[in-house]
Amino acid sequence: MTVAPRFTFKNGTLHAEDVSLATLAKEYGTPLYVYSRAALQDAWESYARALEGRKALVCFGMKANSNLAVLNEFARLGSGFDIVSGGELARVLAAGGDPGKVVFSGVGKQVWEMQAALEAGVKCFNVESEAELERLSRVAASSGRVAPISLRVNPDVDARTHPYISTGLKENKFGIAIERAPEVYRRAKSLPGLNIVGVDCHIGSQITEASPYLDALEKLIALILGLREDGIELSHLDLGGGIGIRYTDETVLQPVELFSQVFDRLDKAGLGHLELVLEPGRSLVGNAGVLLTEVQYLKHSEAKNFAIVDAAMNDLLRPTLYDAWHDVEAVNPRLVTDSTPVYDIVGPICESGDWLARERRMELHQGDLLAIMSAGAYAFTMSSQYNTRPRPAEIMVDGTRSYVVRERESIESLFQGENLLPQEQAIRTKES
Ligand SMILES: *Cc1c(COP(=O)(O)O)cnc(C)c1O
Repeated sequence: MTVAPRFTFKNGTLHAEDVSLATLAKEYGTPLYVYSRAALQDAWESYARALEGRKALVCFGMKANSNLAVLNEFARLGSGFDIVSGGELARVLAAGGDPGKVVFSGVGKQVWEMQAALEAGVKCFNVESEAELERLSRVAASSGRVAPISLRVNPDVDARTHPYISTGLKENKFGIAIERAPEVYRRAKSLPGLNIVGVDCHIGSQITEASPYLDALEKLIALILGLREDGIELSHLDLGGGIGIRYTDETVLQPVELFSQVFDRLDKAGLGHLELVLEPGRSLVGNAGVLLTEVQYLKHSEAKNFAIVDAAMNDLLRPTLYDAWHDVEAVNPRLVTDSTPVYDIVGPICESGDWLARERRMELHQGDLLAIMSAGAYAFTMSSQYNTRPRPAEIMVDGTRSYVVRERESIESLFQGENLLPQEQAIRTKES
């Protein structure tokens, strides 16, 4: 019934594993992010099973959830990381991750980020443009290092997902058009400081069908075989992330099924020796977390009923940004009757776009606790402090225990580092 099997009702109260969400709300306050360690492990297992016996590396797409405890858990399970900034690299290192299992994606890599990644010894730079290739060559050569590289190619396939999270189409800013890739590989081969090791793509997010992956794979296989004729041998193929999760009733892709088809095609093409790299983000963490919030006010009007809660778009942006659906469960559900109202669940922020869920029939009272489900991915990591709202604490549940893996922010910390102007105004010239 529930989208998240580690979040279940026990004696009428929603629990994370064996811990009551009502108890957590009392202990740590709301809004509150709550994660399940077992759910992280379950998701990891689904990939581990799919890749068993093959040369493969899972690099968690950490922009989905970059809490150090989450990263550390995956690192201990053997995960690598797909990073998109120097800040994310610093988090991997702080969490005890292996830089040798890091792939560095992103269209805007700066010089300092390249230097930091070279120094850390990342597995691969996923290069997204020719200008980046030239810069990386200069940065590596000038520091006497060699940058392992892959080209992120854009296979021009439609992942049939939300336009904001579709990345493999010609009109997207990501990657190098696949037709141009052979030429760019030849250029890479001629540049100092670079070592060609792979090819990668990432066609989108929340993908629920196998066909876009398999279409992209076919195009990459053709590219790899063509490169071989040019004397360029790759050692890995990185198919990116993108596997969707169940937010409500979607049928989702199972890694075992998808990747057995991928391995079949690689074997048939004589490319079974390639290491398969994957960059799953959402599917490793999305259903391992909920956002816990308390109903502050109920507002009934002729046109609409609102449940105003203490979480908002600054805590969870996905509904506002993507029109995303999150299931909402009452922590202690009340009986729904014919006269139960339909509510929009909204936050206190001064924006009409500040909503978390729309048109939910729920019997609600002031003070009730709600769990916004499937809030483990692109949730806390996209949070802000808009309206000077401290970001929530993050809690990790493990069986009967709970741990604070990030403290709730204090209000003072939100304006630390801001400075007042001197009382005296500067002398101004006439023109200004
Ligand atoms: C965001 C991202 C991922 C993770 O995507 P999911 O849809 O969360 O699996 C992987 N690789 C790259 C390059 C990304 O930008």
